[in-house]
Amino acid sequence: MKKAEKELYGKIASMGCILCLHLGYGPTPCEIHHIRRFGGKRENAEVIGLCPEHHRGNSGVHGLGRKGFESRYSIDEQALLQKTMELLTL
Ligand SMILES: [Zn+2]
Ligand SMILES: [Zn+2]
Repeated sequence: MKKAEKELYGKIASMGCILCLHLGYGPTPCEIHHIRRFGGKRENAEVIGLCPEHHRGNSGVHGLGRKGFESRYSIDEQALLQKTMELLTL
């Protein structure tokens, strides 16, 4: 992993779960989730922080799948990525 990448991941990880923030739960410890693009290459910066439950749990992006996740929270990965990037530049 490159240094810049590591720093970015560290920053994202320190912001906490972006979905918890969105839902108003406040910062919770998170894991890095890579956003997969359809047919495209995975880009380095396409990562968001999600807590273990919202990441791998039954109510998480991997547990629900992308469609289920979107309909449950009315927000998709791209919008969460957008929020993450906004917070990063503050
Ligand atoms: Zn969460
Ligand atoms: Zn993931």
